[in-house]
Amino acid sequence: MKKRILVTGGAGFVGSHLCDRLVAQGHDVLAVDNFYTGDRSNLGQHLANPRFEVMRHDVTFPLYVEVDEIYNLACPASPVHYQRDPVQTTKTSVLGAINMLGLAKRLGIPILQASTSEIYGDPDVHPQPEDYRGLVSVSGPRACYDEGKRCAETLFFDYQRRHRVPIRVARIFNTYGPRMNRDDGRVVSNFVVQALRNEPITLYGDGRQTRAFCFVDDLVEGLMRLMNVEGDLDGAVNLGNPTEVTIAEIAGLIVSLTGSRSQIVHRPLPQDDPRQRCPDIGRAQEMLHWSPKVGLEEGLTKTIAYFDALLSASSSTVTP
Ligand code: NAD
Ligand code: UDP
Ligand code: UDP
Repeated sequence: MKKRILVTGGAGFVGSHLCDRLVAQGHDVLAVDNFYTGDRSNLGQHLANPRFEVMRHDVTFPLYVEVDEIYNLACPASPVHYQRDPVQTTKTSVLGAINMLGLAKRLGIPILQASTSEIYGDPDVHPQPEDYRGLVSVSGPRACYDEGKRCAETLFFDYQRRHRVPIRVARIFNTYGPRMNRDDGRVVSNFVVQALRNEPITLYGDGRQTRAFCFVDDLVEGLMRLMNVEGDLDGAVNLGNPTEVTIAEIAGLIVSLTGSRSQIVHRPLPQDDPRQRCPDIGRAQEMLHWSPKVGLEEGLTKTIAYFDALLSASSSTVTP
């Protein structure tokens, strides 16, 4: 059935891929974004489509539109960006959730929250299942993001209990792919850009910390399945790729896939950087019949091709 779907954060990395899929399915899509980290160019392929709209709006302010479904993705996601204006980050998560839940309540429509593995903090249970309560600093530099997202989840569960809003909460683990912001400081975009330029690869700490990386197409599939699952949901659902790698391993893999001459250089580990992170996706597998399909080498190869084209285009447009 054709719907009118609101995607907040639609001009961002994940949001723009989600818009692609929703448009391809024949839905009308309204992307709402304040362009803090996202860019209109991520949506360039849809701007001439009359069934697609993009609206500049900050979700910390109320929004009155008529839609059938909401994906709430608005929020900077990389540590560099969310720490640049930490108060705005918390406001985006908390006030954004209140406003989007108010909208969903008024219209009686489903709403999906893009939550995060960061709500588990620097976990002492491994891999992390949904019922793990996390180990989060309330005052550290990552707290604006982690605690903002935790509070947003609380609001979602209270709107479900108090107002019967049909909610879905996805706890997204590290995701990568084309259209990551090249300057956002996340590990995959940093290493790929550094490798393509034959510049030093900046490995923070000893590189033994782990993450599990999910290709963006797999994540978007999981988000859409979660939105469309029947009935009331009890609790959040982890979405991520459970193949855990060390950051040193991913540096080596990117150097080898790009054929780069880059050397690894060590930089200090940022404060509160989680040592280990990997999703338990049993719930998503059972409930959504979903698991990631794209392996790390395949996903990195696509990501490298994207950044290679981007860097070539930007070097050929530099004016003398
Ligand atoms: P992104 O920074 O590329 O996209 C976020 C988008 O939200 C941007 O377009 C930005 O301009 C917009 N935005 C920020 N503040 C806003 C505001 N106040 N009002 C309106 N728009 C606003 O990040 P992403 O990687 O695409 O992440 C999308 C969502 O998924 C975020 O909510 C993030 O927390 C969540 N998430 C992402 C990852 C990941 O690895 N990419 C992991 C866990 C959770
Ligand atoms: N809101 C919104 N769009 C709507 C309905 C509500 O942005 O279509 C905002 C509204 O401004 C309010 C918030 O959502 O601040 C929460 O709405 P709710 O009705 O739950 O709470 P109340 O207005 O009673 O505080
Ligand atoms: N990292 C790194 N070099 C970089 C960027 C990140 O070694 O240039 C490390 C970072 O310290 C962390 C991991 O890579 O341990 C993932 O960082 P990212 O910012 O991508 O995601 P998050 O820490 O939010 O999972």
